[in-house]
Amino acid sequence: MRVIALDGPAGSGKSTIARRLADRLDLEYLDTGAMYRGVAFAALRRGVDPSDADAVTRIARDVELVVDDGGIRVDGSDASIEIRGPEVTRAVSIVAANPSVRAEMVSRQREWARTRGGGVLEGRDIGTVVFPDASLKVYLTASPEVRAARRSQEVTDLDYHTVAADLARRDALDQGRDSDPLRTADDAVVVDTTDLTIDAVLDRIVELLDG
Ligand code: C5P
Repeated sequence: MRVIALDGPAGSGKSTIARRLADRLDLEYLDTGAMYRGVAFAALRRGVDPSDADAVTRIARDVELVVDDGGIRVDGSDASIEIRGPEVTRAVSIVAANPSVRAEMVSRQREWARTRGGGVLEGRDIGTVVFPDASLKVYLTASPEVRAARRSQEVTDLDYHTVAADLARRDALDQGRDSDPLRTADDAVVVDTTDLTIDAVLDRIVELLDG
């Protein structure tokens, strides 16, 4: 099974690179952040407090999540736009810090790759927890300023400072949680994308695969 693990913080270029890499290698691609966003969305829609661990765990186990390129269906309805909105973005790192939610998502992610014979998975814990034996692990990073600038271009309704504050808050939560925090796997290759074009990052990863 050929699994490529792409981890790193928001705005490091993961989604763009994962999608392009999957295309080039003729593999499928999974945005695992969209799954955690889908659970947060389902909780909010049902009026459940994101920090109510038991209620959110039940939702994570029940909810039907179908993630495909750039979109997601949550219990059968399209939530591709809503999962990128400010309410879900505020709630997602709280939901993702819940160990039972993580256990459920990790098992779905392994199953996703198993049924496809591999794939490109992007997230925070792919190389450390989901697939510690991945064929290649890349940890993408970039300066906080460049990450915030990239994100504020994507979400046109929020200004740079709001986006920068949100990224700093999520970085702290994702790196500081007890359960599978964001960290670089010992055997991951770190690629700093601050001054690199998308093509340069892709070339570097393909080089690593070929080497
Ligand atoms: O990648 P994205 O920014 O959409 O991820 C949203 C949130 O989901 C992250 O801030 C993090 O809290 C959580 N996440 C995670 N583990 C993953 C992917 C995302 O905890 N593998």
